[in-house]
Amino acid sequence: MNAPLTGGCLCGGVRFEVTEPLVSSSYCHCTRCQRRTGTAASAQARVAPGSLRVTAGDDLIRTYDPGGGGFFKLFCSQCGSALWSKSPEDPEVVSVRLGVFDSDPGIRPSYRQFVAYAAPWEPLPDDGLARYPERPD
Ligand SMILES: [Zn+2]
Ligand SMILES: [Zn+2]
Repeated sequence: MNAPLTGGCLCGGVRFEVTEPLVSSSYCHCTRCQRRTGTAASAQARVAPGSLRVTAGDDLIRTYDPGGGGFFKLFCSQCGSALWSKSPEDPEVVSVRLGVFDSDPGIRPSYRQFVAYAAPWEPLPDDGLARYPERPD
């Protein structure tokens, strides 16, 4: 990967780039992800430490702290787009939502987590991915 991966929110106010290949990717079926996305699961990818850079709209980004040590949820305050999550302990641990990338991020989700809380109205697809009732070890 030569050119940085770019992405942005729905309104275009927030723009960002990821300058190193993504590290891992998964679907999260937890209740928090269902609530914040309005969908059955969230697809996201962990970035290499220090490789995410906001190029526009830093002032539009808001952080929601779900409490209980859960990852912060960052979103655009103008259009509501979910952008990425961040560890409350280490700001370098960041997972970007796959839907905000401009182009194919190259990586594919390799497992499903928190499937114990999967939405009853959308069956888990028979895609062969590993499934974890909670977070994988
Ligand atoms: Zn926006
Ligand atoms: Zn989740």
